[in-house]
Amino acid sequence: MMWRKFIPPDRADYIPFTLFALLFPTSIGIQFTLLLPKIFDGMTLSVSYAVVSYLSVAIYFCWFKLITTDSTTRGVMLPFVQKPEWKFCWICNQNSPPRSYHCQRCNICVLRFDHHCYFTGRCVGFTNYRYFISIIALLWILCLLLLTTNFDYVITECGGLNWRTLLVIFFPSIAWLFGLTKELPFLIVLVLLLSVVAFLFSTYLLLYHSAYLHSGLTTYERNRKLSKYRCKSKHTNVQSVFGTKLHWSVLIFVPYLPVKLKGDGTTFEVLNFTTTNTL
Ligand SMILES: [Zn+2]
Ligand SMILES: [Zn+2]
Repeated sequence: MMWRKFIPPDRADYIPFTLFALLFPTSIGIQFTLLLPKIFDGMTLSVSYAVVSYLSVAIYFCWFKLITTDSTTRGVMLPFVQKPEWKFCWICNQNSPPRSYHCQRCNICVLRFDHHCYFTGRCVGFTNYRYFISIIALLWILCLLLLTTNFDYVITECGGLNWRTLLVIFFPSIAWLFGLTKELPFLIVLVLLLSVVAFLFSTYLLLYHSAYLHSGLTTYERNRKLSKYRCKSKHTNVQSVFGTKLHWSVLIFVPYLPVKLKGDGTTFEVLNFTTTNTL
């Protein structure tokens, strides 16, 4: 069954996976039906529909691609003889390349392991890191746009910029519980809450992963202070994730374009730019 491949291998990921799969389209649906038509009209409304649609579809595309793009050692030709810097994984019963790591949740070694993503139920690694970066960048832009437009609308509905309005925007659930948002339907308050949470979360991820991307290290390596594969060339580091053909900014906004990554995820360069491991 094709859909089974889509389900997270670890049951512990079912809740965050389902939350993203359901809450995101629900929020966009509410934004489309209850918020945008009240905030904009005419040409501006059409443009806002187009922008929100493009960003939402691109985020969902990246989410789908992150799940279906295999970053594991599955299907990779691995040597029978252990090479320097390689390690033997007793669970996979194979020699695993440098920078790979055995994920307990996916139960397989992952090439250039970055982290296990709970919202996709998959590991982010060598081939799908670009989709993860696109998701957080596009989500940040979408949340910023929605919060900006919703902010003006809520201020007007609440009668101006005051403590009550700020409470509605930044703590909508509390404001709703205390009956401070009688003018706004509950669904709008819910979208506000989700937008604030998603904006703060994507800002945090974007700041951290920008630093990781520039240093050439993965989240796993940075957390464990493993700096062997740190590279001073930001250009090289970004190219290792987005390939050499197109600029990273184009690929973040147009994630549908294919990339050709350098290497196969088993060979990496160290500080002095000499290749240490080859199959
Ligand atoms: Zn393994
Ligand atoms: Zn994993």
